Amino acid sequence: MQKFIIIGAGPAGIGAALSLKEEDSLVLEKRADIGGLSSSIEIDGAVFDIGGHSFHTPHPQVRDMVFNAIEMYEQRRDARCFSYGKMIPYPFQKHYRKLDHVQEVVDECLKGLDETDDGQNSVHFEEFINRRFGPGIAKHFMLPYNRKLWGRDLKRLAADWVGERVAAPEGVKEKFDLAGGKRKPLQGDTLVAYPAKGGFGEIYTALARDIPKIDFNTEVQRIDPKKHTVYTSNGEYQYQNLITTMPIPELLKRVEGVPQYVFDEASHLDCLALKLVLVVIGHPVDTEIQRVYCADQDIPSHKTAINHNSSDYLRSLKHHGIMAEVAVSPEKPLLRDDLENWVIEGLQKMEIIKSPSEVNQTRIVDAKYAYPVPTADRDDRMKVIKGWLNENDIYPVGRFGDWAYVNSDESIYRGLLLGFQLREK
Ligand SMILES: Cc1cc2nc3c(=O)[nH]c(=O)nc-3n(C[C@H](O)[C@H](O)[C@H](O)COP(=O)(O)OP(=O)(O)OC[C@H]3O[C@@H](n4cnc5c(N)ncnc54)[C@H](O)[C@@H]3O)c2cc1C
Repeated sequence: MQKFIIIGAGPAGIGAALSLKEEDSLVLEKRADIGGLSSSIEIDGAVFDIGGHSFHTPHPQVRDMVFNAIEMYEQRRDARCFSYGKMIPYPFQKHYRKLDHVQEVVDECLKGLDETDDGQNSVHFEEFINRRFGPGIAKHFMLPYNRKLWGRDLKRLAADWVGERVAAPEGVKEKFDLAGGKRKPLQGDTLVAYPAKGGFGEIYTALARDIPKIDFNTEVQRIDPKKHTVYTSNGEYQYQNLITTMPIPELLKRVEGVPQYVFDEASHLDCLALKLVLVVIGHPVDTEIQRVYCADQDIPSHKTAINHNSSDYLRSLKHHGIMAEVAVSPEKPLLRDDLENWVIEGLQKMEIIKSPSEVNQTRIVDAKYAYPVPTADRDDRMKVIKGWLNENDIYPVGRFGDWAYVNSDESIYRGLLLGFQLREK
């Protein structure tokens, strides 16, 4: 009997295991490697990060843990927006004046600022965008970009998360709650960190060195809360407390005796799937840019990560990786069947590559659970779901355990916090 079993060796599971390491805990991971959505893969000598791409955190203890575990490389973020055929600095709302080749767009954005307020208490994300940025910036970037990213009606998204994610327009001073451990929106020049060698996933491999017991290739298939037993592809394990980082719908399918009202609540949790198009370039990419955000419909990705500008080590490799994030949903089906060609054409339009002949190969990774959608009813529904699970000694945590739009650092933090709380149990 284990005092604690933890499902998942991603950031949240690692955080939980590190806070319990003196105790009797065991991590079960279905894959052969560490890191979950924050792992990296290598294709033809190019390194790609699936989820996590850069490390930044408002939690000093998480930063210390990471920087003590592995040598990190720090640099200013170089992000751009590609808009009306031109690269301008990120974020759009602070730099649209640089679109001087389309003066009418600049004029509309400027004029719209007269109609802005702080967006407080907006009923939904669309209202927030219109109020915070005015109709011009909303029309020319913020609405089409966010519709492209979220692939759904923005009225379905709440507005309470935007303070941590969306930068204010030009001329508006942002107030950050740094003491409270709250994330602040990324700016054009935020300092970001990345492993000095290898991909983003090296962070989690390094942190996991201090975890005594991880069983890999062990997929949890069924959980019997009455018997406190998990049944896996490698046999069964008994636990006193079960910490899980699996996505809530996948968890509930595996737990015996879940009441219908819990399934009903979970059926309203909304999730965005992504197609991640990985492009191997057969030489070092000739640009300093790390990220490009694009609202235009003729370029399939809302965000393009030029992975090899994440560190000097990656820059030194012979082959470079570029990843295009493409949202797919019933409301936003793909406009073309040949997604990989479409992505490559987009890279040419943005002048990141000159010719398709520079591409060695491409691969598409389907991320079914990529972004938990921050709907207005999400917190109330999660309260009910967690209520029942906690009564049965099951504790979900992490991006899809909490159903929260959180980064890997926050996932570690939440895992740590939960572990410390449960130690007292
Ligand atoms: C496109 C994208 C970009 C991102 N960019 C960044 C970024 O730049 N910086 C950043 O810090 N974060 C970023 N993130 C977020 C980051 O990837 C996540 O916050 C983090 O990985 C979540 O950690 P987690 O442990 O909660 O879940 P996960 O990383 O999903 O880990 C869950 C683990 O559970 C395992 N598991 C699932 N089911 C089972 C089962 N039945 N049995 C056993 N094991 C199981 C999985 O294999 C996985 O290893 C990004 C995410 C996405 C999708």
